[in-house]
Amino acid sequence: MGGPCRIAVTGKGGTGKTTIASLLAASLISAGSQPILTVDADPNANLHEALGLAVAETLGSMREEAFTRAIPPGMSRTAFLAMRFRQVLVESDGLDLIAMGRPEGTGCYCFANNLLSEAMETLQRDYRLVIIDSEAGMEHISRGTIGRPDLILVVTDPGMRGMRTATRIREIAVSLGLDPATMHLVINRDRGIPATDGSLPLPLLARIPEDPAVQEADLEGRPLVSIPPSSPSRRAVAELAGKILAICGGKREG
Ligand code: ADP
Ligand code: MG
Repeated sequence: MGGPCRIAVTGKGGTGKTTIASLLAASLISAGSQPILTVDADPNANLHEALGLAVAETLGSMREEAFTRAIPPGMSRTAFLAMRFRQVLVESDGLDLIAMGRPEGTGCYCFANNLLSEAMETLQRDYRLVIIDSEAGMEHISRGTIGRPDLILVVTDPGMRGMRTATRIREIAVSLGLDPATMHLVINRDRGIPATDGSLPLPLLARIPEDPAVQEADLEGRPLVSIPPSSPSRRAVAELAGKILAICGGKREG
């Protein structure tokens, strides 16, 4: 079984997807699991800021041009697209980032779906892990342009409303043909109040505590990955990273 282990981080806006995706990437790198490709699939893209990287271009902004512009002589459209993909890719130590961007213009990648997913598949082959920061509707995943996740983390706040949203997200995922067995709940901003056990919509994989260091970094506009490794959220995410590696390892043997 080839290809990277793909982890999608999803959930309602503001629940901590970007926070968890970026801290997870940092933890997995520390654990020696690299290279990692991070994919910003949220139209409200800010994963690069959390990771401390600069993004010049998104796939959304290059899409139009890649399909309408004349292709250099002797180059196939697939090869051209692959080349442009590499230009959109932001490279860093052990970790690269690609931003899907907002579907612009006609608002549809449909016409380009096959070529896009092919180029994305080729790109992902170079990585051990792919971490996708995705909005709750998982549009990019449903379009097939990212690939099927091996693990879907549904991030929620600890409250009942959050749990109901997580239930809806599970339903969305199932309606998209995603395997519910790959879905796990991550409770974020946990304040030590016992979870509404028994009524959890998905198996619980981690609880990430409310962490002042996360908010401080946010307020000061610092990359999240700059917070100390001893911060409560980082410790909890490091533990989560271990569980993820075990799940991904199981996938490889399976
Ligand atoms: P999303 O990507 O789901 O929209 P973010 O990761 O951007 O959510 O987080 C939303 C807000 O919540 C941010 O201001 C972030 O600093 C804060 N936040 C997220 N997780 C935590 C946490 N564990 N402790 C404290 N603040 C957090
Ligand atoms: Mg986000």
